[in-house]
Amino acid sequence: MKVLVAVKRVADANVKVRPKADGSGADLNNVKMAINPFCEIAVEEAVRLKEAGTATEIIAVSVGEKSCQEQIRTALALGADRGIQVEAEGELQPLAIAKLLKAVVDKEQPDVIILGKQSIDNDNNQTGQMLAALANFSQGTFASELAFSDGKVNVTREIDGGLQTVSLNLPAIITTDLRLNEPRYASLPNIMKAKRKPLDVFTAEELGIDITSRLTLVKVEPPAERAAGIKVESVAELVDKLKNEAKVI
Ligand code: AMP
Repeated sequence: MKVLVAVKRVADANVKVRPKADGSGADLNNVKMAINPFCEIAVEEAVRLKEAGTATEIIAVSVGEKSCQEQIRTALALGADRGIQVEAEGELQPLAIAKLLKAVVDKEQPDVIILGKQSIDNDNNQTGQMLAALANFSQGTFASELAFSDGKVNVTREIDGGLQTVSLNLPAIITTDLRLNEPRYASLPNIMKAKRKPLDVFTAEELGIDITSRLTLVKVEPPAERAAGIKVESVAELVDKLKNEAKVI
């Protein structure tokens, strides 16, 4: 079984990102970048499938500028066999990413495509669903458990108040939720080995995909500062303030 994993380069989850002064986007200058955490879970799941003998090959694909090769190399160090960068400049919207990934799917014909449920920079939660629609594949989103058998995969999904399990025919699109697994760290020898694994580069033009943006970003601004709190001297004062100032009781 061939598995394609989509990995996105985003600001490291531990970094506090600030908007640019002109509000035209996030200021990523000198910011530490990393694989989107949900994509790390996708890579880990693919590696576990290979270790279990279910997957035969793992291809890590990222869409972006040359710098995203760093995240592909990390996926290779974690256990992917080869990488594909789809070279594209600037901030791409999920539909453009999904179209580019669809072109890679057409080329590679994977049995399973695993994506993160969401990228932590723009919180879109759209790419996997759009790719499933474009490729006309079944989709299991927010997966917290996978079980493969007889050309099908059972995907357990966390929904309000419980767990739902759906059975998908392959090829299928799966998007990962937080509890699917706990990703491993790449070992130093594997980081070294990853440098020699194959990484192909295609451009959007080579794939014949129009990536023109359909939205205009109006503004990015920081959340409003929280007002400072106050200390009250007694319960009576607290009740009085809740009643007469906040008017919540
Ligand atoms: P989003 O729809 O932006 O929240 O992203 C959901 C998932 O789509 C991510 O976790 C990735 O698996 C995939 N994805 C989004 N953008 C890219 C990208 N530029 N390159 C590769 N995969 C991506």
